[in-house]
Amino acid sequence: MPPPNLSEKLASIRGVRLANSSSTWDISFDYPPDSPHGIIKSITPHDTHSSSQRTSQPALALPSLTHPHIHLDKAFIHNEPRNAHRLPLTGSFQEALSLTAAAKQDFTLPDLLRRGEWLLAESVSAGVTAMRAFVEVDHTVGLKCVEAAVTLKKQWHNACEMQIVCFAQDPIFSTDYGDENTRLMEQALEKYPQIDVIGTTPYVETSLEAAKKNIDWAVDRALQLDKHLDFHLDYHLDTEKEALMWYVLNTLIQRGWNTHSTRNQVMLGHCTRMTLFTSSEWQKLAQLIHTHDVPVSFVGLPTSDLYMASPPHQPDTQHLARGTLQIPELIRRYGLDGVLGMNNLGNAFTPWGSADPLQLACLGVGVYQAGTRTDTELLYECVSTRARAAIGLAELEQSLMLWEGQEANLVLFCDRDETGCGVSRPRGSVAETVWDPPGRLARDVVFCGRLGISGLAGPRDAMYRFLP
Ligand SMILES: [Zn+2]
Repeated sequence: MPPPNLSEKLASIRGVRLANSSSTWDISFDYPPDSPHGIIKSITPHDTHSSSQRTSQPALALPSLTHPHIHLDKAFIHNEPRNAHRLPLTGSFQEALSLTAAAKQDFTLPDLLRRGEWLLAESVSAGVTAMRAFVEVDHTVGLKCVEAAVTLKKQWHNACEMQIVCFAQDPIFSTDYGDENTRLMEQALEKYPQIDVIGTTPYVETSLEAAKKNIDWAVDRALQLDKHLDFHLDYHLDTEKEALMWYVLNTLIQRGWNTHSTRNQVMLGHCTRMTLFTSSEWQKLAQLIHTHDVPVSFVGLPTSDLYMASPPHQPDTQHLARGTLQIPELIRRYGLDGVLGMNNLGNAFTPWGSADPLQLACLGVGVYQAGTRTDTELLYECVSTRARAAIGLAELEQSLMLWEGQEANLVLFCDRDETGCGVSRPRGSVAETVWDPPGRLARDVVFCGRLGISGLAGPRDAMYRFLP
C-alpha cells in the first residue's frame, strides 16, 4: 500500500497568488535542523523577469486542509462488496446502529486497511495533511481497529499527520458489555503509545448516572495519560433530556483542565441539543469557558446532522426539522472555538458526502447562510487552520495568508482544464474555491515541503523549483 509519490524537497514556488492579495508572490522554503519538515522561509513579490511566459492564471496558494473528526474504521462500509446486504432500507438512526454493529462483527485487518487506504488517498489528494482519526475499541472489534490505524499512521506518515483516537462508541458503564469495553479501552491505551486522544460517547449509556461516570472516566484517564479528549455529546434534539455539556464543562473545571495546566485540547462533537439553547444559555456557556480558560472546541458535523439529527416524534415529513451547530455564529457571536468535520463517510450513519473537506465548507455556505467573501474565508479556516489548531497541532492563526515560519504544508489551486473540453474556469479567490470547490486534479498538495505527484500535478509545472 504505497502512499503517494512525493517529489524532492521544494526550494521555492514562484508566481502564486495568496489569500486577500491580487499580486503574485514567490515562496521559498527552508529545512533547518530544528524544523527538518520544512518551513516557509520567505514570501516576496514575484520576480516577473525570471519567469517564463505564462498563459493560465497563477495558482492560489492556501494553508492545507485538515479532518478534525473522521471515523477511519467505519469509512466506506457501503463500498465493501461483502456488505451489499447491509445497505439502509429505512434510513433511521436505529437501523444505522444495527447495520453498523453487524458490519463491525465482520471487520478484518485487511478490510480495515483497504477502506482506510481509500479514505487516506481521497483525503490526501484533496489537500488534507492532518487528520484526527477515530477507531473503535469494544467487545465486538477488540483492538483490531486501533491496530489498523497504527499501521496506516506509519505507512502514510510521509503524506499525512494522523492523530489516533481510542474511541468507545459503545457503553463503558452500562449494559452487559460495559466492563469488558472499559477493560479493552484500558488495554489499548496501555499497548499503543501511538494513541493521541481518548474519545467516548456518553449519550449511548443507558442511564444519566452511567453517562456521567463515562465522562468522569474519560476526563481522568486523559489527564493521567496526558492525551487530548474528544466527546460525542448531546446528539439529539430532545428538550426533555438534560444537556451533558454542563456536566462536561464543570468536570473539566473541577479537575483543573485549562490552558495554563495543559497543552491538551478538548473537542466536543455533534452537540445538536445545543441548537435549542436560548441566547442566555449560550452566553452562560461562553462565560464559563472563557472565565476558566478551558481549551474547548466544538466540531460541527453537518453532513451527519442533516441526515440524522431530528427531533423526537416528528409529526409531519413535510416539515422535517434538523439541528446542527451554527459554527460561524458560535465563533463570531460568542467567541467560542468552532470547526467543521466530515464524521462518517459511506456508512449507514452518513451514506453521502466525500473525503474532501472543502465540500463541507461549501455545504456551510448553504446551511449557515454564509455566502460573503468573509464568510467563505471563515468556512475555509474551519476545515484548515482552525481545524489544525483545534486538534492541538498548531497555534490558531486568524488568517489564510501564508506567513514566514509556517510549516511547509500547502494546497495550491491551479488553473487546469478538468473538463476535457479545453476550457478551464480559474479560481482566483478563497470564496471561489469554497462556493464551488475545484476537483482534485486542479489541486497540488505540499506536505513537509514535498509535492504530491499524481495525475496532472507534478514537478513539470514551471512554478516549482526543487533543491538540487
Ligand atoms: Zn463521530
